[in-house]
Amino acid sequence: MTDIEKPTNFIQQVITADLEAGRIKEVVTRFPPEPNGYLHIGHAKSICLNFGLAEQFGGTCNLRFDDTNPDKEDDEYVQAIIEDVRWLGFDWGGEPRFASDYFGQLYTWAQQLVTDGKAYICELNAEQMREYRGTLTEVGKNSPFRERPAAESLELLEQMKIGAIDEGTMTLRAKIDMNSPNINMRDPVIYRIKKVPHHRTGDEWNIYPAYDFAHGQEDAIEGVTHSVCTLEFAANRPLYEWFTSNLPLPSIPRQYEFGRLNLNYTMTSKRKLKQLVDEGHVDGWNDPRMPTISGLRRRGVTAASVREFCDSLAVAKTDGIVDVAQFEHFIREDLNNNANRAMCVLNPLKITLNNYPEDQQEMLVAPGHPNRDDLPARELPFTRELYIDRNDFNEDTTLSRKKFKRLVIGEYVRLRSGYVIRADEVIKDAAGEIVELICSYIPGTVGQDPPEGVRPRGVIHWVSATNSIDCDLYLYEKLFTVAAPDAGEGSFIDHLNPDSLQVVKQCKAELGLAAATAGQHFQFEREGYYCVDAKHSSADKLVFNRTIALR
Ligand code: ATP
Ligand code: MG
Repeated sequence: MTDIEKPTNFIQQVITADLEAGRIKEVVTRFPPEPNGYLHIGHAKSICLNFGLAEQFGGTCNLRFDDTNPDKEDDEYVQAIIEDVRWLGFDWGGEPRFASDYFGQLYTWAQQLVTDGKAYICELNAEQMREYRGTLTEVGKNSPFRERPAAESLELLEQMKIGAIDEGTMTLRAKIDMNSPNINMRDPVIYRIKKVPHHRTGDEWNIYPAYDFAHGQEDAIEGVTHSVCTLEFAANRPLYEWFTSNLPLPSIPRQYEFGRLNLNYTMTSKRKLKQLVDEGHVDGWNDPRMPTISGLRRRGVTAASVREFCDSLAVAKTDGIVDVAQFEHFIREDLNNNANRAMCVLNPLKITLNNYPEDQQEMLVAPGHPNRDDLPARELPFTRELYIDRNDFNEDTTLSRKKFKRLVIGEYVRLRSGYVIRADEVIKDAAGEIVELICSYIPGTVGQDPPEGVRPRGVIHWVSATNSIDCDLYLYEKLFTVAAPDAGEGSFIDHLNPDSLQVVKQCKAELGLAAATAGQHFQFEREGYYCVDAKHSSADKLVFNRTIALR
């Protein structure tokens, strides 16, 4: 183990013991997504765990697509998943694998089970099958087709495969035990007829293997040593082991289960996320409010913070709910350490410095980051007309200095990285709206203390009114108004937050941001962390997504 600081989880302990006892020589894990949607933050936990184990123990981790269900799968999802796992910083060495690569081998093994008297073609329909299966409290009944001769089953299996048999009329089932307390063991279906073209194999197959028949065998083909999955598969493990012990596999993988990541205020189900996309509640799978990896990326969350967060999670044998604030902590921490600083005024109020020459401009310099000398310094044009935020001025001059550390008439503030100014006069329009402030600047106060008697109330951000850029900001709030949107009655759709997106137009940002490129991160000082949105930005106007507000 290279990383000795992190506490070891039970899977690391199992691997360490397997290596020490010589049961394995090298660790092989896999991340096995079904390409039926985009990856979400829950998958990130599994990705970090599987690729992380391979990294820690000097082994390998495969990316393997579990593409056994062609109705719901698509190459769009395959490509998106590849991009997301790469973005998280992981590498699977070579090409991704696909369950469909092994369809031929799986079919041969199915024939073998039939030949060995361990599988049969059953002609019960779905409803009859349910009836025969029994319940948690009642044992099942043997199918009337259970003792059909192997040769007959083999022939029918071939007929199923070539498309000569109607969908829903026959299945291949493993012959295990209809009395088992584990329903998964009551003669589970291992092949179904599905006359649906597959995104990789086209029309080649009219039958597709069940998850349980495919997964362990795929692991065995790839030499996976530790097949790590989430707890809901614990009841499938006996079946996994039944196949690995009843087939002539090239290796014997073992399955281990850990608790899935659930986050409050967050949906971690591809099916439900797909519903949000299909019904148009969000701007696609990568909407910055989505908990998808692509949504988080577009929002400005960094890959490092996703990894740090996932590494902070317990890998336990129980499910729990993690507070989304824990994730936000890692997002802020990484951006605080790495994002360039900039100034952007969301709600501009013009100020004119009456004692500053009309055509003068000086370039002030501000640090790119308060404690990162490696990030380039910024140049801030200082001019007679500036913008400050409307919220940084108050007409009420009786507000205490403690309560309002900003501008009031007759008093001073420091413009960040600039001069100390004083507010002298408010200008209003006919409707009584404040349209401008007349101020004066105190010469010689850039980086210097003001003269005695001049006590700035605080420091505020600003930009030049005549030499800055316009931009729009997309501010996001939680997508759901309740912590557990899919608990209780009704649909999770009922709990969508109608105010999860607020677009703020015509913001004024410092000149240097004109060169910002898609995906670049910034801290807008006193406002929050922002990222250039590739989709909405144009040559004429930059659009920023608010990744997260300052604490
Ligand atoms: P979903 O319920 O969102 O469709 P899934 O389990 O069906 O998820 P898969 O593509 O089959 O999605 O998942 C690939 C891997 O990711 C599996 O090993 C699964 O256990 C794991 N995984 C999925 N969701 C989570 C989660 N919330 N926390 C941890 N691991 C997860
Ligand atoms: Mg699944």
